Amino acid sequence: NRLKNGLSKTKDGFINKVTSLFSTHGKIDDELFEELEEILIQADVGINTAMELIEGLEERVEEDELKEPEELTEVFKEELSALLKEEDGQLDLKAGQNIIIVVGVNGAGKTTTIAKIARRFKEDGKKVLMAAADTFRAAAIDQLKVWGDRLGINVIAQSEGSDAAAVAFDAVQAARARDIDLLIVDTAGRLHTQKNLMEELKKVKRVIEREAGDFNIQVLLVLDATTGQNAMSQAKLFNEAVHVDGIALTKLDGTAKGGIVIGIKNELGIPIKLIGVGEAAEDLQDFNAKKFIEALFI
Ligand code: GDP
Repeated sequence: NRLKNGLSKTKDGFINKVTSLFSTHGKIDDELFEELEEILIQADVGINTAMELIEGLEERVEEDELKEPEELTEVFKEELSALLKEEDGQLDLKAGQNIIIVVGVNGAGKTTTIAKIARRFKEDGKKVLMAAADTFRAAAIDQLKVWGDRLGINVIAQSEGSDAAAVAFDAVQAARARDIDLLIVDTAGRLHTQKNLMEELKKVKRVIEREAGDFNIQVLLVLDATTGQNAMSQAKLFNEAVHVDGIALTKLDGTAKGGIVIGIKNELGIPIKLIGVGEAAEDLQDFNAKKFIEALFI
């Protein structure tokens, strides 16, 4: 099971610590909740979410008159599930023509994610087009073209250094002219010039909205889970700039801090649509809260 394998570090470094705390701690007391808090924070659940989870547990202890710490395992699982419930997010297209603008810092896994989405919808019989609006790096343009060749999908591109918004403009015109079902727009992710980057992304989005008023437009943010709280602050910045509709959280296989899945949902309210649990194509999966929890607890 790829999901289970991909989440094994989080299972060992987070969930198993919690369940072993519950099975070894003598009684339900303040000390137990303090230790739990520490584990939650270490797993990148985020402080607010950690507090919420603990308060939830304390309430359940009272309501259900729990005496044995072991009983908390099931309750903890239920509380986690409750936090993730609405997040059972699949990346869906709406009726009509769609545009997915993919944003995120370089190295997070944007290209991999784009290729995966492109392949999926092509296999579903959709007419797909890609746009190389990361005009900052020649390599990014080339990489997208390589994927385009491999998947048999056209790529709208200009030369390195051209205006990203102009590429987006061309791409929307092409999508219209060719009656495309899904246009996927790659964007720049250089981090050292964050302010300019956000301005550029805003402009790209503005042009797309203006030119493609009748298309369904969504912004997908790709985040590297191994960057922990950094990923959280990136999410806030991108969300402020371009309003993020969904998140692809990659590289969960590389971290024990998978608690970030819960933190993102709870603190930012942005649905997680895809998770990456390895480098193979099958490892980028639709996020399913129930399967996610099961993989961690079984
Ligand atoms: P971009 O710079 O954002 O376009 O990032 P890429 O798509 O090129 O990905 C950067 C690297 O991360 C590549 O080597 C990918 O194979 C790797 N990668 C992407 N997603 C995952 C994942 O879920 N797990 C692991 N282990 N590696 C991943």
